[in-house]
Amino acid sequence: MRTHYCGELRGADLGKTAVLYGWVDRRRDHGGVIFIDLRDRTGTVQIVSDPQRTPDSYDNAGSLRSEYVVKIVGQVSLRPEESLNPKLPTGEVEIYVDSIELLNGVNKQLPFQVCTSEYESVREDLRLKYRYLDLRSDRMAKNLQLRHQVVKAMRRFLEDQENFMEIETPILTRSTPEGARDYLVPSRVNLGQWYALPQSPQLFKQLLMVSGCDRYYQIARCFRDEDLRADRQPEFTQLDMEMSFMSVDEIIELNEALICHIFKVVKGIDLPRPFPRLTYSDAMAKYGSDRPDTRFGLELVDVSEIVKDSGFKVFSGAVSSGGVVKVLPIPNGNDAVSNVRIRPKGNISNEAVAAGAKGIAYIRVRENNEVDTIGAIKDNLSEAQKQELLEKTGAKPGHLLLFCAGDTDTVNKALDRLRLYIGKELGLIDSEKINLLWVTEFPMFEWNADEKRLEALHHPFTAPYPEDINDLKTARAQAYDIVFNGIEIGGGSLRIYQKEIQEKVFATIGLSPEEANGKFGFLLEAFEYGTPPHGGIAYGLDRLVMLLAQEESIRDVIAFPKTQQASCLLTEAPATVDDKQLRELQVKSTYKPKRKDEG
Ligand code: ASP
Repeated sequence: MRTHYCGELRGADLGKTAVLYGWVDRRRDHGGVIFIDLRDRTGTVQIVSDPQRTPDSYDNAGSLRSEYVVKIVGQVSLRPEESLNPKLPTGEVEIYVDSIELLNGVNKQLPFQVCTSEYESVREDLRLKYRYLDLRSDRMAKNLQLRHQVVKAMRRFLEDQENFMEIETPILTRSTPEGARDYLVPSRVNLGQWYALPQSPQLFKQLLMVSGCDRYYQIARCFRDEDLRADRQPEFTQLDMEMSFMSVDEIIELNEALICHIFKVVKGIDLPRPFPRLTYSDAMAKYGSDRPDTRFGLELVDVSEIVKDSGFKVFSGAVSSGGVVKVLPIPNGNDAVSNVRIRPKGNISNEAVAAGAKGIAYIRVRENNEVDTIGAIKDNLSEAQKQELLEKTGAKPGHLLLFCAGDTDTVNKALDRLRLYIGKELGLIDSEKINLLWVTEFPMFEWNADEKRLEALHHPFTAPYPEDINDLKTARAQAYDIVFNGIEIGGGSLRIYQKEIQEKVFATIGLSPEEANGKFGFLLEAFEYGTPPHGGIAYGLDRLVMLLAQEESIRDVIAFPKTQQASCLLTEAPATVDDKQLRELQVKSTYKPKRKDEG
């Protein structure tokens, strides 16, 4: 019987007999003594085979190679002073091994070395193809362990402290309205008909509230067939929650307690509460973003009023056509940022242009608040306007003021991007800081320029603030997002539970009653049979764990992720299927592989 896991052994185990199972991480031969790092999912421990002290294990020890699977029985000893390893949790001890049993060897050349010291530079595609080997690595084993701890903390909090029930919802279902493309599954039993994989359990969790379940949660798999530009996965995991009879404040408070519980359990960190809250409009005004990174300052200032009548057409024109002029003030920016970088084709200008802006204008504040600038802006701002700008932006000598003018959306996008770029470059972001905040009072709708219609910003079941109901188009939603160091980790809302309001919302997004009934008739009908007021939230579990693990990609916290091309390099999914399978489904592919010369 195993007595310990490798990574658990400590000085306090001195003198114990340890029975361990694991993989050979590394074998080193040192002047007749053989050292083996034995690894399991908890970490590694040093095994020593010495021809004098442990003659019975010595021959076997010499024949071990990396990744052999072995059983080891030995005595826990303290390492001599000179070989203590404070970096390793088991670095105080070593095991003098009495017997080694080889349980299985490695028959092929390993595609890469799993052992920590050689793992760093392994290519990701190789890691994904041989994921089972990759998951043996210290880094990935830790990440999976952390993920498990996070989920366990969620379950304990929700079930044991807050009375939530976990309920599974279907994977084969109808389209859900989260706005992405669906994955479709043909039905063999109902030929010609299709299931959609859920983009989220949204409709079912609302129906569970109608059923009186009161508090539901699920660690739910969601599927969205999106172009995988950013760090997205076609299937990902949410902590999904829904609860009845709670206000926005109550839901936010419960969720703060949940997040604090997770941080305490997995990181030992006490987060200060309450988390700050910002309304959507304040977030956009100050940061140009609805998920601001508030670990550093550099807040934006709207100066439209000051420059609207200036002779500088770029500014006055932007304001007169309904847009804005905003400033990103950078303390000591004069030293840090040269003119070349701000002028067209400079890297700061390029950042703004990549976000859709035409360019960036600037002012440098010198000693005695003298203002130094170039080109049209120089001749077209009055001295009074310049001084007013300094006052409004709080600029001091040494400040660089970056200006962006245009429609509000573009200006916000560009300055948000510049703020993050410059914050990073100037080292203003303390990576040890943890900033969590809520963004509230989102607009109900946003304009979809392609389809020329309003669409729901969250989803069409989100409730408006009652006082805004008479002008739905500009109404605020009772919705909230939670943001962790500038990354949205969750979001939700109170839901509409009255049929008339739901119908109005559908009408606003251009869904006729017939279309709405066709899509969500079952939900609308359910709402007629006594629906409690309810609301919920969903967290992106992969993202949350990624941030807690301080990884850069969600792929590093998912056991078997897909690539940016949505494929699994291990199983080679997606793949073609037998014609017979397609015939049974009466599905025919019209796909024609491109000829080589078509490129
Ligand atoms: N279903 C929503 C989402 O997946 C979350 C919610 O409103 O609870 O983003």
